[in-house]
Amino acid sequence: MIYKARTESPELKLLKALKNRYPSPITNQTYYTLNKGYVGEVLFDQLIEKLTCPCLVLNDLLLQVNNQTFQVDALMILSNQIHVFEVKNLEGDYFYEKECFFPRNKPGNEISNPLLQLERATSLLRQLLQKLDFPISIQSSVIFINPKFVLYQAPMDKPILFANQLDRFIQKFNSIQTPLGKKQQQLAAKLLSLNENETPYKRLPTYQYQDLRKGITCSACHSFSVEVQHSKCICSDCGFEEKVKAAVLRSVEEFKMLFPDEKITTNRIYEWCKIIACKKKVQRILSSNYKKVGVHQWSYYE
Ligand SMILES: [Zn+2]
Repeated sequence: MIYKARTESPELKLLKALKNRYPSPITNQTYYTLNKGYVGEVLFDQLIEKLTCPCLVLNDLLLQVNNQTFQVDALMILSNQIHVFEVKNLEGDYFYEKECFFPRNKPGNEISNPLLQLERATSLLRQLLQKLDFPISIQSSVIFINPKFVLYQAPMDKPILFANQLDRFIQKFNSIQTPLGKKQQQLAAKLLSLNENETPYKRLPTYQYQDLRKGITCSACHSFSVEVQHSKCICSDCGFEEKVKAAVLRSVEEFKMLFPDEKITTNRIYEWCKIIACKKKVQRILSSNYKKVGVHQWSYYE
């Protein structure tokens, strides 16, 4: 059972908006890397859905112990053990040598060793569980989810699983039928309560309002080729249709995410959406969906 579902991280959502409105090589590269990781994790989730054994799965945890923060892609609580997963969506040919990972075609470009990441997370989780007075054994695995990934000289004594081994791996768990007790439920609740929210702004390139492209983007294909026709926004690239109101509200939420410290005013959103010809319409949408604060030209919405 999925106890904590996975969603796009705030950082990924922000980068998606930024990539569209203010493309730069750094933004595009960071988005590409983060999104590839997320796609891999979603693939892993589809696999986890095949689990029929009694278990609780928590995705994307950011935890802290002894002043150290660690991240867990997925964690599965079974009756007598916890399984930690580090999911990697690497693609192409790599090789393993002296405890390091290298791309086969660029042997000089060593990549971070996911086994070390996993070891660190496992060790810190163990410390956390000790603190919580919850003795339980921890198993862990690095999952290479992409079927196009090859690792030459893969070490047999390390907890690595490749895409074509995963069905068998899940089946092994499904033979376990020991039900979970109260204690496991309490542990899942405790870990969830300790989960920290990531601040998405710390690693982003700086950007300013005036640099960002204005306009309503298509909800389906993210292009700016959106035109207003009566009460609908229609994308001339993909044909997607959306009610004007929904499109404006979506744009307001995007604005709020990109500029959390800015006030939402009619003028701002009118300029931000760009394609809504009538300012009154923007005002009506804002006033019927947000709380108005202040009066006259000083008013804003929250
Ligand atoms: Zn479109």
